[in-house]
Amino acid sequence: MRPEILFPLFTSVSTLKGVGPRVAPLVEKLAGPIVRDVLFTTPVGLIRRSVTTVDQAVEGQVQTFVVTIDAHQPPHRLGQPWKIRAWDGSGFLTLIWFKGHGPHLERQHPKGARRAVSGKVERPDGFASELQIAHPDYIVAEERAGDIPEVETVYPATAGLPSRTFRKFALEALERTPELPEWQDPAWREREKLPGWREALTVVHAPTSEADLSPLARPRRRLAYDELLAHQLALAQRKASRRAHPGPRISAGPLSDAAEKALPFKLTGAQIRSLSEIRGDLASGERMSRLLQGDVGSGKTVVALLAMADVANAGLQSALMAPTEILARQHFETIAPPLQALGLSVILLTGRDKGPGRAAKLAGLVDGTHQVAVGTHALFQDDVAFKALAFTVIDEQHRFGVNERRRLQDKGPAGVDWGVHLLAMSATPIPRTLELTVFGDLDVSRIDEKPPGRTPVATRAAPIPRVPEIVDRLRVAIAGGAQAFWICPLVSESDKVDLRAAEDRAADLRQQLGPSVGLVHGQMPAAEKDAVMQRFVDGEVSVLVATTVVEVGVNVPNASIMVIEHADRFGLAQLHQLRGRVGRGARESSCVLLYDPPLSEVAQQRLDILRRSDDGFEIAERDLELRGGGDPLGLKQSGFPAYRLADPVAHRDLIAVAADDARLILARDPDLTSPRGQALRMLQELFDWKPASPLHDAG
Ligand code: ADP
Ligand code: MG
Repeated sequence: MRPEILFPLFTSVSTLKGVGPRVAPLVEKLAGPIVRDVLFTTPVGLIRRSVTTVDQAVEGQVQTFVVTIDAHQPPHRLGQPWKIRAWDGSGFLTLIWFKGHGPHLERQHPKGARRAVSGKVERPDGFASELQIAHPDYIVAEERAGDIPEVETVYPATAGLPSRTFRKFALEALERTPELPEWQDPAWREREKLPGWREALTVVHAPTSEADLSPLARPRRRLAYDELLAHQLALAQRKASRRAHPGPRISAGPLSDAAEKALPFKLTGAQIRSLSEIRGDLASGERMSRLLQGDVGSGKTVVALLAMADVANAGLQSALMAPTEILARQHFETIAPPLQALGLSVILLTGRDKGPGRAAKLAGLVDGTHQVAVGTHALFQDDVAFKALAFTVIDEQHRFGVNERRRLQDKGPAGVDWGVHLLAMSATPIPRTLELTVFGDLDVSRIDEKPPGRTPVATRAAPIPRVPEIVDRLRVAIAGGAQAFWICPLVSESDKVDLRAAEDRAADLRQQLGPSVGLVHGQMPAAEKDAVMQRFVDGEVSVLVATTVVEVGVNVPNASIMVIEHADRFGLAQLHQLRGRVGRGARESSCVLLYDPPLSEVAQQRLDILRRSDDGFEIAERDLELRGGGDPLGLKQSGFPAYRLADPVAHRDLIAVAADDARLILARDPDLTSPRGQALRMLQELFDWKPASPLHDAG
């Protein structure tokens, strides 16, 4: 139940003065549907208006003058502006209005009237011409000059909703904001010299200097911390409730020892550590929710396989789910032989399975004949039932929705009171500093060490005009049996222009290199896509032009060349992931990053990082530092929360603090019933970070 004190903030924006049926949709688009959303929309800048005289005016600045109206100059022809000549004793100033204004100006501001006028001062025709203000921000009677703010915040604007209009709404939202009981630790607040919540919002919406708007200013940090704490609390609550949920106790057994011994290599230290963390979870009696992070090829699947052997050893079943059919098949080919060598039955289940074949596989899952199932979404259709599913592995976890994950965790056997252990595998490197915000409710294991003997991929950048040379080299390489990926990024899968560019590129390469050039893109039917991919895996297609990253998730050891067009459109982490698709076989591998010249300095630095490092985590961290704000890593797609007041980069030092704080708070007051606990619940309401909020649930 939402506390009554918050009602004024949780009402429609249309209750704000001036927000009528025309404006409401614009405000909703910019901020959100309720007053709280307007309150949480922060200014992006600040305009300072100094009061001055015409002879002291500075071009390009926003300034305020007190003038006498001297003359009106109506337009002579259509399309000309309406002008007012004004005089302040030190010089003349011309005020200009383009369309939409006319004789009413003369009635409102008659000759001889005294007016305070404010706006950006310009001298359009050079030094000799008169100063002018086009469309003054304010023109009011001299007595009301005090109404013109000296400092004015600038809000993000949207067509039809100027910043100044939004500012009024924001100030009204601020006025409606109640004082709320303090949810932060008072001692901490004092130590950090942080203002109270309402006071902080006041500074943000009515700043007195540019410094107030910096994300590092105390009021901003206070609000950022509020938001981060609300989020971390929700994550910690979810983690705690999952902990309270039992999972089947599974201890390491001889089967996985045998499987490990049969591997043609030794596990790396990082693999051993991750495996023991997973085994700790499996044996704990609590349900596991763990993320296994590691670069492509770092050996995650092998670790999952050994855990599956433990599960089979306990007489229980495992499932591994991949986002596409082809990836499912590849996983099957990787894990089935070693598990089958132990006498286990492993099946592959995809959308392709139909009729009696499918029925037989399903029967084997229900009666427990099969210990391991690998597949796609087809694994959790309603009619798929397991005898004793205890362990689910999800590859590329961010591609699966929360509900899908939950359905898979619900596939446990009927009549038991435990839930299925969940292991998500991801190759998207998240900087350590951000890990807690993305995966705060999961336990994380990292494979930060590559198997020995990998040769780094030679990486270089080239301007687009050098494409002919690259094609020449490609011709030689494919004649020698090499295969290549050629990535053409799509801003969105529905972007027709980019799709055309990819099609054109494929056509062009086909013309130059022959028919062994294939194209896959997100708008192709899945079956067609899979067919092209399969031909690439089988070596019939030698150059694969692709628009999406999903399709590139496949393992094609023979592929040794990666060309990425518009490399500057990708985050470094993504580029690194793409690059990881080559360099898996014996051939020397290379990666060419194509860009539109000239390359900006930051772009140059980014490419340098990629050239120098082969460690996904390091690359992600450096990218974050270099790019600062925004969404440098494409985190939104990986389930990254959309914060309103916290900036995950500028406030990243606060993330771990908030996580610790949340843990402590819940340790002392698990149900948030103390006075501070109740205030914290209010905080969670404010930000919608509630423990059971399905929108933000990460599984
Ligand atoms: P990921 O799932 O992280 O992409 P995989 O588990 O598929 O990585 O492993 C990639 C390749 O490396 C596979 O061919 C696998 O057999 C091999 N591999 C895994 N671990 C090791 C290791 N410790 N030493 C040598 N090769 C390994
Ligand atoms: Mg893999």
